[in-house]
Amino acid sequence: MTEINTQELFRSIPKVDEVLSSPLLQEYAESIPRSVLLNATRSTLEDIRSEISKGSRLEPVTMTEVTTELRARAEDLMQASLKPVINATGIIVHTNLGRSILAEEACDAVAEVASSYSTLEYDLKTGARGSRHVHVEDLLCELTGAEAAFAVNNNAAAVMMCIAAFSKDKEALVSRGQLVEIGGSFRVPDIMAESGAKMVEIGTTNKTHLSDYEAALNENTGLLLKVHSSNYRVLGFTAEVELAELVELGATHDIPVMEDQGSGVLIDLRNYGLPYEPTVQESVAAGATVVTFSGDKLLGGPQAGIIVGKAQAIAKLKKHPLARALRLDKMTLAALEATLLLYRDEKKAVESIPTLRALTMRALDSKAAAESLLALIQSALEEKGLSHLCELSISSEVARAGGGSLPLADIPSYAVSLASEGWSEDALEHYLRLQSPRPILARIHDGALLFDPRTLTPGDDIKIAEQILSFVASRI
Ligand SMILES: *Cc1c(COP(=O)(O)O)cnc(C)c1O
Repeated sequence: MTEINTQELFRSIPKVDEVLSSPLLQEYAESIPRSVLLNATRSTLEDIRSEISKGSRLEPVTMTEVTTELRARAEDLMQASLKPVINATGIIVHTNLGRSILAEEACDAVAEVASSYSTLEYDLKTGARGSRHVHVEDLLCELTGAEAAFAVNNNAAAVMMCIAAFSKDKEALVSRGQLVEIGGSFRVPDIMAESGAKMVEIGTTNKTHLSDYEAALNENTGLLLKVHSSNYRVLGFTAEVELAELVELGATHDIPVMEDQGSGVLIDLRNYGLPYEPTVQESVAAGATVVTFSGDKLLGGPQAGIIVGKAQAIAKLKKHPLARALRLDKMTLAALEATLLLYRDEKKAVESIPTLRALTMRALDSKAAAESLLALIQSALEEKGLSHLCELSISSEVARAGGGSLPLADIPSYAVSLASEGWSEDALEHYLRLQSPRPILARIHDGALLFDPRTLTPGDDIKIAEQILSFVASRI
């Protein structure tokens, strides 16, 4: 009996050609390429087939059902995979959401060089070939006090290149307390190995003294490396050797000293109520041969790895074979230059670079922003007589720098909290996350969904209110 039924079910599956020529798809056949419709049809039919095999399907298949499902799939396939989202999580440098978003000035600069020819490698004064590296070098020197500068694809690339350039086939000394894993597959020991340097671990996890470096020094030492513990802290009974002390030791033995700073902070964050984070300027002033940092963490620019330091060292890097492989493209250079230009005026930088703006937003302003978001949601719901279905409130929260930066900074923040008896917070979270064209990402906490305005961009609040309304309306 079951056997016959299953066979009948299989027989009810239409053929691919039948589906594609179905009148139910006519309208779509014009707007969606045949290859996409074909893929969608095949995957739909395959899934139905496997449902029947598993015995989880007992009804015969209809053409309407198939075409409805495949249309949804085809529309999905027509969308770009990389799409903008609304970040209502309060996590500022959100690693999974693209880290920093760019200042308007940087976006404009990208659009300009992308849509016209540019002076990427052309010197207008001499009318001859120029270098792409000049566009950010002077600015980086001006802002950090370094003698020279160079930027590559990301900080992992910058670190790798420096280690390769200074300590290939030599020993690089690094404290056991700084054998960092940044996330993904970036681990200091692995980068060392890839760069051809022999890593020599010194000291212990919690304490490393200058004498540990001294004891490990020999004629084959190529580099003294200090890695900033950007995404963790060793607390309690600890000791680290200051960069300035390493610089002195390096100078005595003519060995370069490198600091991988990670975050890339150019302003004193303590002035904004945040914990101390060493600035690039401080490391340059301490005399490091090279300092490396990311362009898209706390600097708030595009993905890049920035290297600043002594002229001779940077000159060596520019000539290194990896320089070409790791070079920046013109859009990133444009975004980086525009972002750095904003740093000439700290006030302007803090106001216009989204990462800095979000990071330095005062708790009071965050409360006001949360209140205005709440009012917007409330009035959207009231207009349709649905506000009684939601419990809206302002909750005091902790925002995070994210991106492995400022791990101990609890940033006092306020969020809109939405709860309801009518549905689970998971259901609303899921609905908002699958919105098109702009998915909304919010945080679930304690039976409610939280919307932190700190990480929103202008106009996001209206979209959030609209989508909450459409969810609530779909529930009645
Ligand atoms: C983030 C980080 C890196 C890696 O930088 P990317 O820009 O992600 O390549 C390397 N070192 C430290 C200390 C970091 O914090």
